[in-house]
Amino acid sequence: MSEFSNNYIFNKRAMVMCNDGGNLTEADIHKFQNRWLDAEHYTESANGINVLGINDNRPLPEGYKWVTVRSRFAEMDDEESYPVARAKALLEWRRDAKFCGRCGAQLVESKEFTAMECPHCHNLIFPRINPCVIMLVSKGDEILLARHSQRNQDVYTCLAGFVEAGESIEHAVSREIMEETGIKVKNIKYFGSQSWPFPAQLMFGFTAEYESGDITPQPGEIADAQWFDRDHCPATPAKGSIAYRLIHNA
Ligand SMILES: [Zn+2]
Repeated sequence: MSEFSNNYIFNKRAMVMCNDGGNLTEADIHKFQNRWLDAEHYTESANGINVLGINDNRPLPEGYKWVTVRSRFAEMDDEESYPVARAKALLEWRRDAKFCGRCGAQLVESKEFTAMECPHCHNLIFPRINPCVIMLVSKGDEILLARHSQRNQDVYTCLAGFVEAGESIEHAVSREIMEETGIKVKNIKYFGSQSWPFPAQLMFGFTAEYESGDITPQPGEIADAQWFDRDHCPATPAKGSIAYRLIHNA
């Protein structure tokens, strides 16, 4: 019987699947490990995770294909997507957790926890998660969507941002909406959450209602923001993201 039930190979945004859509086996991981000597390998036995990571989009041998992690998320419920998200998150975290931030020594794997440990000062470094908020603001039948200046420039989507040190999640929701569009909101309600390991976000989804203000896009951040009819909104995020679920109330 094999030790690992969750075998994955990732690059930045995609994962390897068998051509027939099947999951990888432990033998597949071995095969790719021998082929790609520069790949990062990591296992977590508690979750049966066996993962190989590379940074580029290299060609695959016959019988395998790259699929985006997001499109896999779209096909899976929360329970199924958990090991995929965890494997990707741990892989990303390990790339950054190489040296102790306190004393500078090289970190080693903790024997006790899923963590890295400093052999010198015993600082423990656990996998990092960055909390983010993502919000759908409504005004009657209309919803507020924005196009960003920096990322995904052709897509209108929900407002979103990182939770900052010292603030509550609810504070982050109203602050981000005010900063990005100049709109004041009320009736902030929790919608749901999603792990978004690109590299380490935990998205907290909310709905909110318009209270006051005129749309004033934040310079350098928001290229355009508008109220749209929910049933006739322009290009929106792909299925598999919490933004999609918020916009389509799915
Ligand atoms: Zn240290």
